[in-house]
Amino acid sequence: MRILARPSAATHAQITPKSTPQKPLSRPPAAGARTAGRGASEGSLGTYAKTSAAFADLLPKNNIKWVPVEGGDGEVKAFEVRGTQWLERKTLAQIRCDRYRLKSAVNRLLIGSRTSKCCRWKVPTQSVQVMHSTEHGKAFYAGLQVCASVWLCPVCAPKISERRRVELRGAMDEAQRQGLDVMLMTLTVPHGLGDDLDGMLDRMMKAYADTSSNRAGKNARKAVGLRGTVRVLEVTHGRNGWHPHFHVLLFLDGGMSPHQVKSILAPTWQDACEKRGLPRPSDEHGVDVRGGQDAAAYVSKWGLEHEMTKGHLKASRSAKGATPWALLAEYQETRCKRSAALWMAYAAAFKGRRQLCWSKGLRDLLAVVEMDDAEIAAQEDSAAVILAELTDDQWRDVLTTRSEASLLQVAEENPGEVQPFLQGVAAMAKAMAIPPPVTEKAKPRARRKA
Ligand SMILES: [Zn+2]
Repeated sequence: MRILARPSAATHAQITPKSTPQKPLSRPPAAGARTAGRGASEGSLGTYAKTSAAFADLLPKNNIKWVPVEGGDGEVKAFEVRGTQWLERKTLAQIRCDRYRLKSAVNRLLIGSRTSKCCRWKVPTQSVQVMHSTEHGKAFYAGLQVCASVWLCPVCAPKISERRRVELRGAMDEAQRQGLDVMLMTLTVPHGLGDDLDGMLDRMMKAYADTSSNRAGKNARKAVGLRGTVRVLEVTHGRNGWHPHFHVLLFLDGGMSPHQVKSILAPTWQDACEKRGLPRPSDEHGVDVRGGQDAAAYVSKWGLEHEMTKGHLKASRSAKGATPWALLAEYQETRCKRSAALWMAYAAAFKGRRQLCWSKGLRDLLAVVEMDDAEIAAQEDSAAVILAELTDDQWRDVLTTRSEASLLQVAEENPGEVQPFLQGVAAMAKAMAIPPPVTEKAKPRARRKA
């Protein structure tokens, strides 16, 4: 308890529940974060640790729990609450492996697409390099093409989400400093099996645009003291088919309750939907507005779904429906044709759409620097050294043996082993004797008649 009371531990104390067992508390929480989280650190814990006090004030206090590993010599694991379950956070190595495994499923489903080439095809005239960040200790590749798709790419999307999450946290802190209220509004439309996803999205996008451009919408926004919005597009697939919806962070002058805000803004969404040919959203389900704590909790978890254990996958398939990543994982694990077909329909409907949209002037108001998805995806650590430069044959062998994630892990944990590892990979590729994957254009195989 002594540690919790110390001001220097304030940031961690905010996210460490009272029920945390004695053992992790008996050593500084930061050490725990290093042990468990070397792994989990990348998107989640690292940022939690950096979370400013203002943002942390808003987070539910029992968000994360540290549990000692049995016989682990003081090692602790991080668990996070999702709904009613405590789920273990994965290590960085596990998370990266999952991302590359999911990526291989996308490569199969979207043959020849930009995303299928991402992290596999070289940038012309460059060689593939294994880099090691001297700042974060992480390894990564340089010289490869990146797709920057937030919807389709299991490698690029988390990188972009991570940056967006940091931006949103900064915006919420700044809003609090300026005395603004932040609320989380969710907008949905009645949906059913057989809905045409692409058409529904088009209409929803137009309806949402109407709520800020038509006269009724403008008046309603003025009435609630709305200073700006960040609109996020999401989708799940459940028993009633596709469920696209918007989460909107509302930045308001303050003084109104979420209930009051809802009663003023709801009609503008309902009317706009009707005008655009969508069924009228109900008072009960069409619009939901929640206060600052829910907004902070939403932002803190945004884009982190990959980092949960499989329990979350199952959870995501229950009442709330499956996320597209869950559908992709299902296909990857079981080759389920239905999941593949659903994911392909999702890919076709969402490709090229904006996932996250800041209203005009809000970035300036909250001093958030703009950076586009492609810039983020291509961003590399400036403080990094080259551990190895791979020949074309070596890179082909890495792809053939699906060793992309393992090579990075070796580079991080034991840089001296990179060359022996590559020799092992070459031997394995030779033994597998599979034709090299597409670093050059693969010719479509001629169909044999039965
Ligand atoms: Zn990508």
